[in-house]
Amino acid sequence: MTEHTKTDGMPEMDAAANSQLWEKVRPRNERMNSEKIECNACPVLCQISNGRTGACDRYANRNGTLVRCDPVVMLRRALDDKESVLVPFLPRGAPDAAAATDEAPPWNGDLLLADQVFITGVGASSTYPDYKPAPFIVSSQAAGVDLVTVVTEGIFSYCSLKVKIDTDRFLGAEQANVRCKGEVVGHVTTAEYGSQMLSLGGVHHLTGGSKKEGRVTVEMMEALCNKRAVELMIDGGAQMLIQAGRAPIVNGVEEKRMRLGCGSATVGIFAEQWLGMVDEVVVVDDHITGVLTEHQSGRCLDMRPSGIRLRGRKSTPGRYFQVANPGTGWGGTDIIDPLSIIEGWDAQTAWPGLRLLMTSTTGEHASWYVLDAALQPVEQEMPFDVRRIVERIGENCEPSLTTVLFLAGAGGSLRAGVTENPVLLTRAIKNALVNVTLGGAPAYVWPGGGITVMADVMRMPDNSFGTVPTPAIIAPIEFCMKLDDYRALGGHMDYVRTLEDALRRGAWHNEGAPLARKWEQASPANPWPLGQAPMLG
Ligand code: SF4
Repeated sequence: MTEHTKTDGMPEMDAAANSQLWEKVRPRNERMNSEKIECNACPVLCQISNGRTGACDRYANRNGTLVRCDPVVMLRRALDDKESVLVPFLPRGAPDAAAATDEAPPWNGDLLLADQVFITGVGASSTYPDYKPAPFIVSSQAAGVDLVTVVTEGIFSYCSLKVKIDTDRFLGAEQANVRCKGEVVGHVTTAEYGSQMLSLGGVHHLTGGSKKEGRVTVEMMEALCNKRAVELMIDGGAQMLIQAGRAPIVNGVEEKRMRLGCGSATVGIFAEQWLGMVDEVVVVDDHITGVLTEHQSGRCLDMRPSGIRLRGRKSTPGRYFQVANPGTGWGGTDIIDPLSIIEGWDAQTAWPGLRLLMTSTTGEHASWYVLDAALQPVEQEMPFDVRRIVERIGENCEPSLTTVLFLAGAGGSLRAGVTENPVLLTRAIKNALVNVTLGGAPAYVWPGGGITVMADVMRMPDNSFGTVPTPAIIAPIEFCMKLDDYRALGGHMDYVRTLEDALRRGAWHNEGAPLARKWEQASPANPWPLGQAPMLG
């Protein structure tokens, strides 16, 4: 129970026009106001007055009936698939038929098209704990095989975001706290190749801290999952504005390029192209700074040693760690003046007139020097041909993006909505008998115990996520398998329905208006969820 119990939640019921009948609910006991009804879709158990929504804004009381305020998102197979000719279902004579369809002509009920339609969990409704079967358990066929898809909106307390930010720049030390609106909502985790990584949300921030921490965490997660921008601050590090699928903005500056590789990789890639144009190249990088003539690539090209001496810790020939501190300057270091990492020159080896290129791993920073008679580098205008290769470094950098993966544990009571014997679902998933999707997007299922799934929010329909004030995240999840396998794992066979029936009668077997639905074209980037090879094999 939370402070939201026995409240009316949000003040207005603005989405009820496109709502779904959920179930008729009456006042539970005499002490309840007779005008209120109780929503039992989550543990908050809101008591909702007529014309109001519950605390999550997802359910409402419409004249004594509990309704789900949002339509179910239905996917139709990508139009570029020539076999896919799909129109939405429209029951003949349905009273609110006009409201239930969209621009496409009505489908006359040909069930063969059921394999071209996918009911997602977005807007599907949920139960917690799962005291009854999932709202949609829908049959279909693919390649002559009978399938069933179990669809629900999961309520996830155990969930987090893994955020990949394509930048070399220093965002914060590993393990540093990440804050949103002053609350700790996650931490910096291990950097990856060309990217800084954050781990955000999670059960400890959602429920293990103060109420405010939980509220800010769930709001931050919902915003990022629904592809909205969020401002974050890292203790001792950067201020960021991040949004899934967009370039991150670090300390007010939009990132443009993801580095081509580390300094050593960059030296290796361009060594041959630089040959004859330069006498030395230093590629400045917070991870590995490369020095061409010492590097294996320079040696293979028989380049003359330059006698340069770099600061930092030498790893292997031509590869240096820790030439400077992490920062937002050259190559993810705090360097403003690249010459500051040069300790000196071996007077026996270097020579006046030596041509030195210094560049970052993205080519955003680059300078050209020539040694004078005292072996001091003097900056000069970069020759055209050298400039072209520096530009090619930039050309080979991919656009800098923010990627948000939603990670959640579906191994709890949610399984009871699928089967009477939950461990059989877990085993079937591990045996690749079940295709797990989130909003139709493929989910990676972690090995080991439980059902821990991970999906890229950019592959899911917009606004797939919601919240409840426990606090927890609401996310769609679908389990698709062969009908025989569903029977074998103790599935709720009495609740298996055709697509037609699901569209006609909505969630569960409610007798009411046709299902309020929103049609979206499946992303061509996603495999069609029905009839994946392991399922049919
Ligand atoms: S917060 Fe929970 S109980 Fe309240 S309306 Fe939303 S789902 Fe129902």
